[in-house]
Amino acid sequence: MKTLTVSVVTPDGPVLEDSFEMVSCKAESGELGILPGHIPLVAPLSISVVRLKRENDTEKLAVNGGFMEVRPDKVTILAQSAEKPSDINVERAREARARAERRLQSKQDSIDFQRAELALKRAMNRLNVGQ
Ligand code: ATP
Repeated sequence: MKTLTVSVVTPDGPVLEDSFEMVSCKAESGELGILPGHIPLVAPLSISVVRLKRENDTEKLAVNGGFMEVRPDKVTILAQSAEKPSDINVERAREARARAERRLQSKQDSIDFQRAELALKRAMNRLNVGQ
């Protein structure tokens, strides 16, 4: 089976570089499934799960935005943050979710709702991958 090199980088440093048979992710335009030999493209990513498939297993990453660059033999993901399930602090994500939900339910004018919505999405994505 042919493979692609996948490299995931964040401002904190590299998260992963390895060979996989398929990359599934959620671009802002919709779900993408990337196989070796894919045409080159650059796409903005949503706050979402990236699935990296090998013959017998699948690795998951909780990715917070950023971009993916696809070339026929390589996928590079540049994200604001990207965590493997074992690196996710579930308690911290639960607290972030509760904080964001409180803010979204608040009637105060000073609340930045868009910011709270994004924080809620990040927390839910981490809980989805980490639990
Ligand atoms: P919090 O309010 O808990 O800081 P956040 O969504 O605002 O959450 P980010 O700004 O997305 O956090 O991330 C800041 C840094 O903290 C990144 O390096 C990210 O990987 C890390 N991080 C955030 N939440 C978690 C978590 N639950 N487990 C592990 N690492 C996390």
